[in-house]
Amino acid sequence: MEIKQNFSLKKYNTFGIDVLAKQFTEFNSTEQLENIFNNCKLKTTNHKLILGGGSNILFTKNFDGLVLKNEIKGIETIHEDEKYVYVKAGAGENWHQFVMHCIKYNFGGVENLSLIPGNVGASPMQNIGAYGLEIKDVFHSLEAFHLAEKKIKTFTLNDCEFGYRESIFKKKYKNEFAILDVTYRLNKNPQFNIQYGAIKEELENMNITELNIQAISQAVINIRSRKLPDPKVIGNAGSFFKNPEITNDEFVVLKNKFEDIFGYQLDNGNVKLAAGWLIEQCGWKGYRKVDAGCHANQALVLVNYGNASGKEIYDLSEEILQSVNEKFSIKLEREVNILYYCYAAK
Ligand SMILES: Cc1cc2nc3c(=O)[nH]c(=O)nc-3n(C[C@H](O)[C@H](O)[C@H](O)COP(=O)(O)OP(=O)(O)OC[C@H]3O[C@@H](n4cnc5c(N)ncnc54)[C@H](O)[C@@H]3O)c2cc1C
Repeated sequence: MEIKQNFSLKKYNTFGIDVLAKQFTEFNSTEQLENIFNNCKLKTTNHKLILGGGSNILFTKNFDGLVLKNEIKGIETIHEDEKYVYVKAGAGENWHQFVMHCIKYNFGGVENLSLIPGNVGASPMQNIGAYGLEIKDVFHSLEAFHLAEKKIKTFTLNDCEFGYRESIFKKKYKNEFAILDVTYRLNKNPQFNIQYGAIKEELENMNITELNIQAISQAVINIRSRKLPDPKVIGNAGSFFKNPEITNDEFVVLKNKFEDIFGYQLDNGNVKLAAGWLIEQCGWKGYRKVDAGCHANQALVLVNYGNASGKEIYDLSEEILQSVNEKFSIKLEREVNILYYCYAAK
């Protein structure tokens, strides 16, 4: 196991922020992770960060601690019954490659989540979702290593407290566990979900006559490739803010003031608003200050045009938050994980 010192994380976060980790190492098995935690030099390091693909993270400063890059690989079918197949994937597997594996074997349930960047291990962290599906819809269980107790614990669906871009790992157990693997329950007879967004239209454009999960996946890939900036071309972490939820009464008040505002009615009686629309109304779409900006086509996506620092991106997000609050009296919440730790590199 090689421990790198003052290691640049620029290639390890999709924002492309050039910060240093005081220490950096990779692990590809539970045993390797246990060894790291038994290593006397490393176990005294206070701050530890488990890193996946770095696509939902903003480093605002150098990381004063140990970054542990999860490289646990492997995809295997561990059980099946009449209706379902249970597939276990290592946390270090690329999420989209896992989706492609499921498509190849006609295991249904994740096709709408094609092309989401990042790794399997982070998929339960914020209950990733897109095009009408969330990970909780196919989640069976996961195994995670408790960093302080050095014990492996299994979490089932009920244990994870999944919500909209939320789970117990972002709240009560924040930074406490390293997720080792995730088991998904996939459908042997896929149910198609094409009601959301422009999927139906895209399938028509593709001249698809017989619906299958491969076609749905390709439709999602086509839409996402057109809509979202590619982090390889321009640094970003997807949606920077969550779509806010307000009460119906609050929505009525806003609707009287801003007649174009669109709200999505939720089962609990509340209304979900499009954060991108709110940000756009405050004039931020296409805004650029030096290398930090708000994407020209997607106001919800903050971007690094080249050499922006994490602090510059963060400060821009703060300005956006304040202006949305002033105009609509709505406090947006950040979806991206912000890393604050300070380390003065020599
Ligand atoms: C262009 C673009 C589009 C996106 N679209 C979507 C979308 O449609 N829907 C969506 O939900 N998200 C989307 N995202 C956000 C991101 O892809 C997901 O949140 C993804 O799951 C992050 O995975 P990651 O491996 O990169 O996590 P990282 O960024 O590496 O980590 C994110 C958080 O999870 C923790 N973590 C990561 N792996 C582990 C592990 N094994 N154990 C414990 N903690 C861990 C980290 O410490 C960190 O706090 C998008 C991002 C981009 C750049």
